[in-house]
Amino acid sequence: MNKSDSERIATSLEKKGYSLASNMKEADLIVVNMCSVRQSAVDRVNGLILKLKKMKALPAGRQVKTALTGCILKKDRKRFKFDEIWDSKNYFDITPTCQSKSSAFVPISNGCNNFCSYCVVPFARGRLVCRSHQQIIKEFKRLIKNGFKEIWLLGQNVNDYNSPSDKSINFAKLLKMVNQIPGDFSIRFMSPNPKNFTNELISAMAESKKVAKYLNLPVQSGDDEILKKMKRSYTVKQYKDLIRRIRRKMPKINLSTDAIIGYPGETKKQFQNTAKLFKEIGFDMAYISKYSPRSGTAAFQIKDNITLKEKKQREKILRKLIKKHEPR
Ligand code: SF4
Repeated sequence: MNKSDSERIATSLEKKGYSLASNMKEADLIVVNMCSVRQSAVDRVNGLILKLKKMKALPAGRQVKTALTGCILKKDRKRFKFDEIWDSKNYFDITPTCQSKSSAFVPISNGCNNFCSYCVVPFARGRLVCRSHQQIIKEFKRLIKNGFKEIWLLGQNVNDYNSPSDKSINFAKLLKMVNQIPGDFSIRFMSPNPKNFTNELISAMAESKKVAKYLNLPVQSGDDEILKKMKRSYTVKQYKDLIRRIRRKMPKINLSTDAIIGYPGETKKQFQNTAKLFKEIGFDMAYISKYSPRSGTAAFQIKDNITLKEKKQREKILRKLIKKHEPR
């Protein structure tokens, strides 16, 4: 999502007369599009600030302006010293210049109403705002005309989508609509939430030839008590049942997931339940994150009592249970 936003921010700056600098040292304006979801991303901003300070100290003979935007927590607005802070927007009205020649991102919504206990998105990006299906289809057609072969539909929780111009158009219907657009291209999407992944959506995916048979379905934990604490609104049984229904319709589907390990209070037994689920499902890939407290979230109130050493050990165990993993 941040990649898509960055392309749109860059395009809006180009319209104001800026052009992309080949490196930071040559830039007159440095825009940092921040992500607050993981601590590692926040740490990278800290590192960048040090770099910027050094750059500003150089007698370069010119002014460098710095701006921070994206998912910014209230506390970080004051802590990070940038010349300007730009509020995160949905950028729906900007037609971006895509960085890739073959793959493009189309945001269908921005923000989230789900308030999972560990997540900053509803605070940093705000509540869910959906884009009209007409605008999405128009952008899709333009991308296909320009030769893009892989188009991603993006939203924090795509299956919460409802077109503001026609409430009967949900995500399943939107998928079918973009699938009907003539052309040689494939459709991917992220991220869905298991809690409202309906049979209608499974059928739409299975029946739409252009929709890639790949799905990232974040489970986060394989233990019901932890899922409840995380406010994920589904149980392990419901998740497994959903996977069964998906595989029944699409036997060759490539499945990946997201998991958080070391959530506050996660016992060894509860972690073993996640490992058990990984064995049972046999994910093709997984994005595994070590829990880190995010200020402003409900989980921030609970003591982060699992040591880093223990989190690393648990992470190692999960990684061995998947065919491929991607560090985030
Ligand atoms: S559904 Fe996703 S984006 Fe929304 S609060 Fe939960 S983890 Fe965050």
